[in-house]
Amino acid sequence: MLQTPRGTADLLPADQAYWSYVTAHFQSICEAFGYGEIRTPVFEDTRLFQRTVGEGTDIVEKEMYTFSDRGGDSLTLRPEGTAPVVRAYLEHGMHRLPQPVKLSYIASIFRYDRPQAGRLRQHHQFGVEALGEEAATIDAEIISLLLTLYRSVGLTGISLQLNNIGDAACRPQYIEDLTAYYRSHVHALCDNCQARLERNPLRLLDCKEDSCQPFIQEAPHTLDNLCADCDAHFSTLKRSLDAMEIEYTLNHTLVRGLDYYTRTVFEVWPEAVGRQSALGGGGRYDGLARHIGKRDVPGIGFGTGIERIILNLQRQGVAPDERQPFSVYIATLGERAGTYGIGLTNDLRQRGIRALLTYKQRSLKAQLRQAGNQAADCAVIVGDDELAQGQVLLRDLKSSTQENVAATDLVQALERLRAGEQDPQ
Ligand SMILES: [Zn+2]
Ligand SMILES: [Zn+2]
Repeated sequence: MLQTPRGTADLLPADQAYWSYVTAHFQSICEAFGYGEIRTPVFEDTRLFQRTVGEGTDIVEKEMYTFSDRGGDSLTLRPEGTAPVVRAYLEHGMHRLPQPVKLSYIASIFRYDRPQAGRLRQHHQFGVEALGEEAATIDAEIISLLLTLYRSVGLTGISLQLNNIGDAACRPQYIEDLTAYYRSHVHALCDNCQARLERNPLRLLDCKEDSCQPFIQEAPHTLDNLCADCDAHFSTLKRSLDAMEIEYTLNHTLVRGLDYYTRTVFEVWPEAVGRQSALGGGGRYDGLARHIGKRDVPGIGFGTGIERIILNLQRQGVAPDERQPFSVYIATLGERAGTYGIGLTNDLRQRGIRALLTYKQRSLKAQLRQAGNQAADCAVIVGDDELAQGQVLLRDLKSSTQENVAATDLVQALERLRAGEQDPQ
């Protein structure tokens, strides 16, 4: 028996209530904040991620799904959401549009990772990117959008973790200080950290090993080493967050694993779980576009895993609004009635009424049981003899009342029932 590949999941109709719920909130919030939707291909030229995410990162070295197509080109399934959007911005000349260009996306993300709860090899992500604006007020807008999403779907107890990791002017000095500090403890570090010290020192602050935690706590802070421009940028961000009454925790251990991040970095953590399972996060990446298109474009964005949002909603016992659409079951007895039922069902569906029917001849009892199982609001019962007299029976399945209705008045009667259902007195 063949099954889904490890680390992937089928999304069944029963799962859709949560998915539609969070997706609808994300889309309406993006509309309110003025972010237009973009869709990029599931796979890209492998070089896009090698140049942006960076050689030497876990993503590029261990986690990408890379393959040669039949023409010999190297392609990679999207391992993160930002680089493809920046590629599209440059490719389509969006730098000529009024800036900033504000984009949102819903995308599948592929990483060959150890599967665990809320972390799949194919997962799905909501993301936004604002391109062409360096002012920190837009950093605050992006953070607010993310928190608005969590709040509107009903997540509570979340915390915003905030840091600034400097830029090309001040980070090299900081990296030197950080490296010097870690060199004095090199023998006590885990194997991974010994490698990071040579290849990607900022990631030292990201180590999850218990034995490395004391060094992370004592390490120099980026915030103490910011240049005047980065400092002013961070002050504007904090002032803007204050103006929106958004609380945050300064967290000097927060660095992003990806090389192109500059200045603002943030994560949102669920209650009491902490960074191992951040709900979402993002940051500024003013250095990214140059790796793709030889053009400097400031940018900031976030990504947040949809499965992880749903997992946290379920942990908190938050159920989606599950208002079922008004639906009608067409029960038929006899061949002529059956044929009439097919036409009637189709007519109702053209009018946007959810209509269900039996696909083969069954007893009325069996059909009404099926109507109940499908949570139909009412049933239209059609028999050959009644139909010959132009009559059908309309039964309200909620109140178990029924009335004879002229076939010609049926659609209007159903429209009235649907209106009453949607707008209860
Ligand atoms: Zn370590
Ligand atoms: Zn700086």
